[in-house]
Amino acid sequence: MADRKTAFITGITGQDGAYLAQLLLEKGYRVTGLVRRSSTAEINDLRLKWLGVDKDVELIDGDLTDLSGLIRTIKDIRPDEIYNLAAQSFVKSSWQQPLLTGQVTAIGVTNILEAMRIEAPEARFYQASSSEMYGLIQEDMQSETTPFYPRSPYAVAKLYGHWITINYRESFNLHASSGILFNHESPLRGIEFVTRKVTDGVARIKLGLEKELRLGNIDAKRDWGHSKDYVRAMWLMLQKDVADDYVIATGVTTTVRDMCRIAFEHVGLNLEDHLVIDPDLFRPAEVDVLLGNPAKAKAALGWEPEITLQQMIVEMVEADLKRLG
Ligand code: NDP
Ligand code: GDP
Repeated sequence: MADRKTAFITGITGQDGAYLAQLLLEKGYRVTGLVRRSSTAEINDLRLKWLGVDKDVELIDGDLTDLSGLIRTIKDIRPDEIYNLAAQSFVKSSWQQPLLTGQVTAIGVTNILEAMRIEAPEARFYQASSSEMYGLIQEDMQSETTPFYPRSPYAVAKLYGHWITINYRESFNLHASSGILFNHESPLRGIEFVTRKVTDGVARIKLGLEKELRLGNIDAKRDWGHSKDYVRAMWLMLQKDVADDYVIATGVTTTVRDMCRIAFEHVGLNLEDHLVIDPDLFRPAEVDVLLGNPAKAKAALGWEPEITLQQMIVEMVEADLKRLG
């Protein structure tokens, strides 16, 4: 196909990378992605395998911190669209590994932008920005114009990535957009994040493998959506002639406690019988509440979420029951 577009995804082995690869393949793209070399190669494409697309993508060894490798890769692949999803993405780990988080999640963005500027300045670029940048929220509902107040080394690093993306757009006229995505989950979410920890824990309790579920601050509130809906928004952003920044959220916020309740109730268990609050799981600084306003994305991209929190948690519990059963 002469007009077949090529996409390059960093973080293709992650949750969003896998769903995005699936979406772009369905749209007829040639899909390429960066993978970190590992001594246990088979874990690299686990999520891609789950979605049945592992054989359809081209994986290239590399690391976001390795600029010369990125330059060579972009030169070889000649991508039309670059999605920068790679990151040290877990907030709690960012206090344990603040420098690594800065090197990957912040400076890594400049590396990939430099590679694009040098080898593919006509390509379109997507940066995975985060609602964590709002941190100690400055407005009840956060939009593209809400001031940022990051509360973790992860969020500080993401803020750098966000602004360097805007700066390269303004400085070099690159088609560089950033999506300020609120929390989004799926059966492919990493086990360390609270939704997946809960759905995995509930499945284990239901199957008699565990008795309790240990959590930290269950009063925290998040605006949770589904990764499948959110990767569609990434693609839509790059189809616009003019690059811009967009909040992607559902506009509904829920406590961790109520999210847990959905999971327990789905399998006929009582949350209070199994939940243990563990002070070690609290964070040095917390983001108490996040609630996004997706009005701009709706108006400009025609984007709206299709999957509710209830539907998603049920899907995740069922997937974990199947995995463990
Ligand atoms: P995941 O943690 O599931 O995936 C992260 C990906 O980055 C993995 O493919 C990982 O590879 C890769 N990666 C990590 N370090 C490097 C590195 N040094 N070089 C190359 N690749 C690397 O994250 P998600 O899919 O959930 O999120 C995608 C992006 O969106 C991330 O940038 C995240 O911070 C951001 N984001 C996510 C939100 C969410 O709720 N999910 C909300 C807002 C933003 P490996 O498989 O080898 O570990
Ligand atoms: P985050 O918003 O990117 O940090 O996503 P997480 O899923 O890691 O955390 C969401 C919220 O759940 C945060 O406010 C956490 O403090 C809270 N939380 C409570 N208990 C836990 C837990 O055991 N694990 C995780 N990951 N988060 C927890």
